[in-house]
Formats: sequence, C-alpha cells, structure tokens
Amino acid sequence: MNKTLVCTALFAALGGLSQAQASDAKNVILFIGDGMGPSVLTATRLFKVGEEGNLEIMSLPRSARIKTFSHDAQTTDSAPSMAAYTTGVKMNNEVIAMSSDTKAVAPSKDANGNKGINNCTGDNGTPVPTILELAKAAGKSVGAVTTTELTHATPAATYAHICHRDAAYAIAEQAVPGGAGFNAALGDGVDVLMGGGANHWTPYSASNKGGRADGRDLTAELGAQGYQYVTTQSDLAKIESGKVLGLFSAKSHLDYELDRVAKGAANTQPSLSEMTAKAIDLLSQNSQGYFLMVEGGRIDHALHATNAKRSLTDAVALDEAVKTALGKVDLADTLIVVTADHDHTMTINGYAAKGNPVLDLVKNGDGSTQHDVDGKPFTTLVFGNGPNRADVRPTLTSDQVMADDYLQETGVKLGSETHGGGDVMLFADGAGSGRFKGTLDNTLVFGKLKEALGL
Ligand SMILES: [Zn+2]
Repeated sequence: MNKTLVCTALFAALGGLSQAQASDAKNVILFIGDGMGPSVLTATRLFKVGEEGNLEIMSLPRSARIKTFSHDAQTTDSAPSMAAYTTGVKMNNEVIAMSSDTKAVAPSKDANGNKGINNCTGDNGTPVPTILELAKAAGKSVGAVTTTELTHATPAATYAHICHRDAAYAIAEQAVPGGAGFNAALGDGVDVLMGGGANHWTPYSASNKGGRADGRDLTAELGAQGYQYVTTQSDLAKIESGKVLGLFSAKSHLDYELDRVAKGAANTQPSLSEMTAKAIDLLSQNSQGYFLMVEGGRIDHALHATNAKRSLTDAVALDEAVKTALGKVDLADTLIVVTADHDHTMTINGYAAKGNPVLDLVKNGDGSTQHDVDGKPFTTLVFGNGPNRADVRPTLTSDQVMADDYLQETGVKLGSETHGGGDVMLFADGAGSGRFKGTLDNTLVFGKLKEALGL
C-alpha cells in the first residue's frame, strides 16, 4: 500500500477526524520548572553531574525554544506564562486562564488582614478552557501536583480562571465540586491535587491566621465529595485509589528540598518524586488515560532570593521526578513534556576551570581564584538584579559562598530578583513528542498538547 492508501485506510478506521482528532498519546505529563531558564538548567547540570553529564531532562530526545512574553509585558510572571501552556491564549500579567482582554485586579484584604476579597467581576473578561478541563471532559483523569501552595499561579492555571493570581481563597473554591464558586468545567473535580498552603482551604481561627474569612472548610467539602484528604508523606503513601487532596503544609509552600531533606526524621512532607509517583499510580487506573501537571515551583522562589544552592537543589528534585515518571510510564502511549514558564537573571560567568563546583568562586585549574578589577574573587553564579549588592564588594571565601544560605551577588540592587525575559527550553519524549521543535510561542504548546491527546 502506498502512503496515501495507508492514510486513507487509517482515516476510515478512525471514523474520520470530524468528531475528534486521532490521538498519539493516551496520557500527558507536563512538568514545569518554575523559573528554570537555560542558565538554571546548565547550572543544575554542573551541580548534579558536571560538565559532561546530562540531566534526565536533557536526555529527552525532542526539544524546542519557547518565547514567554505575556499579553502586556516583555517579561512575564507565572500566571499568564503557565496559562499560555494550559489554554493557548496570551493574557496579561497576573491573570489566570482568562481571555486576553481581562484586566488584572488585585484582591483586597479581609477583616483578618488576608487577601481574601476577590475583586474580579463578571464583566472583566471570560474564562478560556484549559487542557486539564478538556482532558477531563474527554473522560480522562486529571491531576495537579506542586511544591508551592496549591493555589499558586502555576497549578491554578490548570484548574481555575481568575483575573488575579493573588486571589488564592477564590482559586481554592473553584476546585470544590458542588460548592459555591466551583468551576463546573472540571466535571466531577480534579482527581489528584497535591501541594501546600492548607490555610486557603480551611477556616480562619486563632491557630490558622491565614485561614478563610468565610468560614468554609473546603477540605471537609471535598471529603463529602469523595476526596481523601491527607497532610503527611506517610498518609499519602497509604492511598491506593480514588481522589486525593494532599496539602502538606499548614500555610505557604512546601519546604525547599534542601531543608526537607535536612529535617530527617522530623520531615512529614513527601518529595516531588513521591508525589509524582503516587499521582501516576492513581491517575493511570483510568483506562481512558490522564493529564498530569507536575511543578517544581520553588526553583523560582530561591532564585528571587538569589539563593542559588536551594534553587539548584529544587531543580535536581524536579529532574528526579522526571526520572521517576520515565520509569513508570510507557512512552508508546504517554507524552512527557518538561519546560519552564519563564527565565531568571542568573548567569554563569567568569572562566572557571572544568570541574570547579558551580556554586564556588571562579577558580583556575591550580585552585587559585580569578579576580575582579579590585583584586577580589567572585562566584561563577551571579544575578542581574536582586538583594545582595554591597556598596563595596566583600572579599569572599569558598566557605562563605558554598554555605546553604549564601545569596549570590547582583548587578542592580532590588529587594527581590526579577524574572528574566529570555526564551526558555522545552524537552519532550514519548507519544506525539515529534511536534515539539523549533522556536515556538508559549501559546502554541497548548495546541500541541491538545493535538497529541486528540482533544
Ligand atoms: Zn517568580
């Protein structure tokens, strides 16, 4: 049979493409390294395996370069950049999964001083469908897993629609089937939800000062809808099937991986790999397949602080989660995509000798340091802007700069380092991964995920 005949026969067998497109992938796992720009990836490789090694992420055979600007900004925040991946629409900074005309309007403070009053109004833009919603509507199971608060911009862009990312209490409501504020496009709800920040899901009290002013206990409401609610690594491990809500910190994000590990036996939080493995085990029980988003969210936070060590350690944790997923799925029916939502201003500078630790001072092959014009040593990793900029540069030592809490130096002094506006990398493997190549606008990733799933 020639190619045309093969195609015609296939087309007929599939009943034509008018209803639904032919799918390559039954399952999609979308990994996001928040803020994991190209230099962060390279530094993570140097940190984990050295110059000649490769991260698991870098072993994926397909790659593309992604443009990340938002509808109104050269440099994006995580809300529109993640939402570009999940919806295919360019939106303004701070906006989550809404039409391009949506204006970002910040929530205001409630009686307890929390940003609990949502100021998004019904006439301010319209929700746009997410890939998670489309997968759910097609009968697949869906999940969102993160090391940040579960209501943070990146996970929220899979299951919520709102004019401002800071409206965390309203974002949480959208995930609760049957409750006021529920996002009906989620059908019977997101099957797997894991992250931090239980305070956005539970009522305000003297011991829960970041809690909800409306008194709702969304964990109980989700429980009434059949969800299993877990708050520890050991309880998560016991779950074998069904829907799960995992909130592993009372407030704010999960620990940085470096601190989670340092806690030893006192640690109660699962690793990103453990959450990923559990999510795959649960979602893959659906014979119609699944969509899963996994975020290494705190790579970004440590970069904002110019704390390279914690950032690279969290990026290694994401790489381990990718390895875990690769070990569990069949790439013949599963598409794995790993990318970042935006860059940061970290750079790899100087001419350090091969093998020099990436967190260390820039050193020559004989161990001597390289110097600035004033004769002072400097680190390989520095940032374009951020908090650590002394009027006169200190004379740094290796002990200082290799410490967990060391903050890399910055060019411009800002209280918090900004995102970078540079393009980021995307890596893919498995069913349908061939469509990821060249330089792509971030909005095009959505269509390629959709095509791969035949949605
Ligand atoms: Zn950020």
